[in-house]
Amino acid sequence: MKIVEVKEYRLRYPVQEKFANSGSWNTSRSAVVTEIVTDSGITGWGEGSGGLKEETVERCLIGRSPFDVETVWHDLFEHGESPRAISGVDIALWDILGKALEMPVWQLLGGKVRDRIPAYASGLFRKDRADVTQALVDEAKGYVDQGFGAVKMKVGFGEAYDVRNVAAVREAIGPEILLAVDANCGYDVGTAIDVGLKMAESDLFWYEEPTVTDDVEGYLEIKRTLPMRIAGAEALAGRWAFRRLIQEQALDIVQPDISIAGGFTECRKVTTMADVNRVRVLPHMWGGHIRLAATVHWQATIPDWPQVLNSIPSLFEYDMTENGLRTELAKNPIQTVDGEVPVPNAPGLGIEIERQVLEQYAV
Ligand SMILES: [Mg+2]
Repeated sequence: MKIVEVKEYRLRYPVQEKFANSGSWNTSRSAVVTEIVTDSGITGWGEGSGGLKEETVERCLIGRSPFDVETVWHDLFEHGESPRAISGVDIALWDILGKALEMPVWQLLGGKVRDRIPAYASGLFRKDRADVTQALVDEAKGYVDQGFGAVKMKVGFGEAYDVRNVAAVREAIGPEILLAVDANCGYDVGTAIDVGLKMAESDLFWYEEPTVTDDVEGYLEIKRTLPMRIAGAEALAGRWAFRRLIQEQALDIVQPDISIAGGFTECRKVTTMADVNRVRVLPHMWGGHIRLAATVHWQATIPDWPQVLNSIPSLFEYDMTENGLRTELAKNPIQTVDGEVPVPNAPGLGIEIERQVLEQYAV
């Protein structure tokens, strides 16, 4: 089997109501989808975060066996492609392998450790509403009613906003639901600690990206000072970018994104590096449905640790914000059931792409 064609689709979906994290207002969602066609008639789908150069497609992909996942990754990287762009190719290749062998990707990765992944509702962004707190409270209660046992909300908007709204959401969901917060690198170290100490009264499961990702010393200080788990690294690309944060145990939870870090091939390596250093891996997922499916297959294979009766759950980030690229792109989307994500057993990624949606949202 050989690769005969590589197609790229750049997609954009405009949202009805804009929403903000600490960095910016979101008015649209986007995705870069890769389709790889083989001479056997099997087609694979991937989602990355950048496009490939035409000349590297010709030189490194056309005529290659899709089973060469490691050497293809290496060759693309050596020819100057970024892990962000390679991610889309790598996910599509694993999809092809699964379809060719009639096995789900999780099986090719060595087998799954769970059939369902407990999910957290990832939402609670800042909205442009008269009563922001009430909007957050209503949204959070809705997630609990849908069966989620964990939710994540956006912070990083200043101490007054963060402390007031995190307390209101905690009050609304009650003491049993896990609550994480995400500052999207919105603070310097001192402010992150100051706000974190006050938010700690709301019993936080983790505090995500309190400061900029490359400040390893800053993360170490935050981690030693604050009582909740510290998470981050969703934007890092390539295994080397994770090295110091993981080796120095500057994070309790590392959150690689399969469509940024470099696909299955690279995320397996990051998972091993984290395992060796006793850092928990909870993948980041915020994008289209191919990224979601790929994350499910990968996360299904990551063992709990310590393996005890009361393990910390491997929580799946289920993006609850409006995104047609997540909700419309697959004919058979992977959806939560009672707050859990079922792991698909169909070959490859286990999803079928709605081609008309690729045209509808093409840029
Ligand atoms: Mg985040």
